Amino acid sequence: MNGFILYRGPSEIDGQPIICIATGLEDGGSNTKTGPMVQIYIMLDGIHPMQAVQTGADVSICGNCRHRGKVIKDHKTGLLTNVGRSCYVTLMHGPRVVYDAYQRGVYQEVPLPKARKLLARKTVRVGTYGDPGAVPIKVWKMALGQVAALTGYTHLWREKPELAEFCMASCDSEVDRVLAKALGFRTFRVRREADPKLPGEGHCPASAEMGKAVQCAACMLCGGNKVKAKADITIAVHGARKNNFNKEMADA
Ligand code: SF4
Repeated sequence: MNGFILYRGPSEIDGQPIICIATGLEDGGSNTKTGPMVQIYIMLDGIHPMQAVQTGADVSICGNCRHRGKVIKDHKTGLLTNVGRSCYVTLMHGPRVVYDAYQRGVYQEVPLPKARKLLARKTVRVGTYGDPGAVPIKVWKMALGQVAALTGYTHLWREKPELAEFCMASCDSEVDRVLAKALGFRTFRVRREADPKLPGEGHCPASAEMGKAVQCAACMLCGGNKVKAKADITIAVHGARKNNFNKEMADA
């Protein structure tokens, strides 16, 4: 079994049906930034991830994350289009492949105690796509209880401070960082290329600015409070949509 359904049920954000799928159990996946890790995807159940982004239905798995972009309607055709998306996740890659496999019935749903055993002693990335805050916390507490190490990121740190145990707070500004730290989070702050790192932050060693020296699987600093390290992490904006990010930050 290379992947399985970890959770299928209502979103904690708005009650819509979502799925949470763990992949790469046997082969560790092919993500060149993270290296071999189990990758966990959170997606709408019944709506293709690319359609969900175009229509705004992705709110059920991403909340009001600013990197979702805006959905506008063409008044002549009635068609909805997403503009200004700055999320670094490329939907054509992992999310499309995993969702299509799900539709073909590739993944079995397993009870939480079995999920815990399947993930035991693995290195796991929580929320390769989608926000861990969309899934009930009891799922994470049970399923991640015996992992060797994990990384996780949430933009829902205001609403779900209990995720500090597993996740870095995804921060888009210095103010975000101050607020998230007050709630008990370690932080992962994306900044404009020209902006400096702040006291208490370290550069992500997998970043282009650090020469992509290390993969996540060898670093594992982004495990929230599960990691002994106290430093926060920062990375200069990267990916195909960095121009949208720079514009957002300039407008903020
Ligand atoms: S700091 Fe380490 S674990 Fe976090 S994103 Fe960078 S390489 Fe991955």
